[in-house]
Amino acid sequence: MGMGVGAYRIFLTYGKMSTVNVSGKMGIRHIRTVLGRGCRLRCPRCGEKAIFTGLFSMHPRCPVCALAFEPEQGYFVGAIYINYAATTLIAIAGFLLLDYYTAVSLSAQLVLWGLFAVVFPVWFFRYSRSLWLSVDYLCTAAHRSPPPQRSRSRREASE
Ligand SMILES: [Zn+2]
Repeated sequence: MGMGVGAYRIFLTYGKMSTVNVSGKMGIRHIRTVLGRGCRLRCPRCGEKAIFTGLFSMHPRCPVCALAFEPEQGYFVGAIYINYAATTLIAIAGFLLLDYYTAVSLSAQLVLWGLFAVVFPVWFFRYSRSLWLSVDYLCTAAHRSPPPQRSRSRREASE
């Protein structure tokens, strides 16, 4: 019995992975959908629910499809890199653009971009986490367990 279930699971996993490959689910459209959900702070798998409950607090997993939003401790270190990279790139580009096109003084620029470097990462915090989550989801979706509510939705559909 145990072996039978195991084989069934392998069959399911294989079927899922081959479906992903054959139907081209990992195509540009799929990537755009998942990243779009990331930009809207939504669950990367189902897109149904917001991943944040407040300004900085997150659901542990998606209330709809049960995708774990923080699978392990330290998972969001990658989000810090995204946040840092975005802040630095925008500040440098902004500095160069203002320097080239306007007569803003160096000290005014330092104050401006200094403030930016404090305020922007706080505002961008949620987006950096959400984007990290969707990029990670794109890379690992094939290895994740399927949503457990499938049987429930099937039952709901037949009711
Ligand atoms: Zn979900």
